[in-house]
Amino acid sequence: MAGTVARWAALAGCLAGGAIGWARLPEVPADPPAERFSATRAMALVRGWATAPRPSGSPQHAATLSSVGDALTAAGFVVTPHPFTIGDVRGVNLVATAPGADDRDGVWLVAHSDSAPESPGASDDGFGLAVVVEAARALAVDGPPADLKVLITDAEELGLYGARAEAARAKGARRVVLNVEARGAGGPVYMFQTAGPTGPVLAAWQRSGCRVQATSLARTVYDALPNATDFLVFRRAGWTGYDFALIHDAWRYHTPDDTPAGLDPRSVQQAGDCVTGLARAWLDAGGAAAATGPEDAAVYAQIAGTTFVMPAAAVRLSGAAALVVALARRRPDARGGVVLGVAAWLGAAVASVAAGVAMLVLFPYVQPDFWERVAEAPGAEGRFVALAAVGGVVPAAALTLARRWGPAERGWHGVSALLGAAAAILAPTVGYAFVPGAFAAAFALRGRPWMAGGAAFAAGVVVAPVMQAIYPALTSRAAPVLAAMPLLMLAWLAPGVRREGAASQRR
Ligand SMILES: [Zn+2]
Repeated sequence: MAGTVARWAALAGCLAGGAIGWARLPEVPADPPAERFSATRAMALVRGWATAPRPSGSPQHAATLSSVGDALTAAGFVVTPHPFTIGDVRGVNLVATAPGADDRDGVWLVAHSDSAPESPGASDDGFGLAVVVEAARALAVDGPPADLKVLITDAEELGLYGARAEAARAKGARRVVLNVEARGAGGPVYMFQTAGPTGPVLAAWQRSGCRVQATSLARTVYDALPNATDFLVFRRAGWTGYDFALIHDAWRYHTPDDTPAGLDPRSVQQAGDCVTGLARAWLDAGGAAAATGPEDAAVYAQIAGTTFVMPAAAVRLSGAAALVVALARRRPDARGGVVLGVAAWLGAAVASVAAGVAMLVLFPYVQPDFWERVAEAPGAEGRFVALAAVGGVVPAAALTLARRWGPAERGWHGVSALLGAAAAILAPTVGYAFVPGAFAAAFALRGRPWMAGGAAFAAGVVVAPVMQAIYPALTSRAAPVLAAMPLLMLAWLAPGVRREGAASQRR
């Protein structure tokens, strides 16, 4: 019976972490004060711009630019067009500043004006454009602060051209950039990467009151993907900042379905409150001059509604501690079954990925557009979870077989603890998520079901928000392999814990 504690605790942790961590979208205030961001005003802007696709250089694009310029002028900014030519691409960036202010340094709100050719782009990037324009208005009710600037880039969809032109124009400038983007079309807002010295960047974040989903894991994963936003150019220019995006409902991204009707005003309100809060935090701190310090790899995560910031060294130490727990006081009989346990773990991992790849290859034989149908329609996340369960049958069978022979569990838990600890030590920005799981495995290895259960609960709480972020962002290409990923995570809890003999209970 004690053996089941860890598994149930982990499941409960996943459910608790999912329920607490689930980003609830704010209500849109009916009649907000002038200095508060209003999604109602922002949505009216989006509805005006996203009536048709506005690829760079199109009439719809020109009309949108002039509307954006008018709105910023009405808010008290001086708007200057900056035409650019890079290779065959021509475009126009807009820069807005307070009257008489310089256009180099400062706190910059950024979004791009163009859309994909077939998409009205209500989310990408009508959402960002409206958030930036309405946030600038809210921040400028008593006149635009001298340090607050707005940049509207052009030709982002063609290859980040506007951002590149601006980085060249303002070479050597000192900036804090708040970039608002979309890599999906709905759901809660994610702050998925930062740039610059993480000390002041995360201190301003904590002061801002902004509590949208944010984890250092996202930037590490994102860096490995081929996608890029303007923010990548700003990061390379040495500027400090934050990159925000909608990532859910990826099936509508860059399609004719990305219309204003599909954009949730509560997502807009959440992004707007966050961006205005963050801009105020930086303006109060003295602007971009406050962005000093080394760019180290800070670890941060939004867990149960709170942003936790941890030094990378602390995560590394925790990983090492899990390893010590796992390895300490090895019993003489502990070697039995280790090889089998290691083989079972690796076998289950391979089976898990193979099940995903098999689904990728075989399902289209039954229905050619199977994966498009799964991924590119509402409710994709639920179907991925169902497919994860289907793909999980094979590795689950491997787990059950391994569990039939008690000693093999030690090898199993050993691998789990080792991998979790290694992730924490080698890549703390990502590995923080595996530390509780590593402890769960380490305590399981030592035959401590209740301690393992507590750690497994924590593992569920920490990992659930990560899974919630990943699933809705999947598209058909990544779907099948990632559908099998939860099975690897099951490795931390699946075999459970057997209470060892008297020797371990005395300790
Ligand atoms: Zn975009």
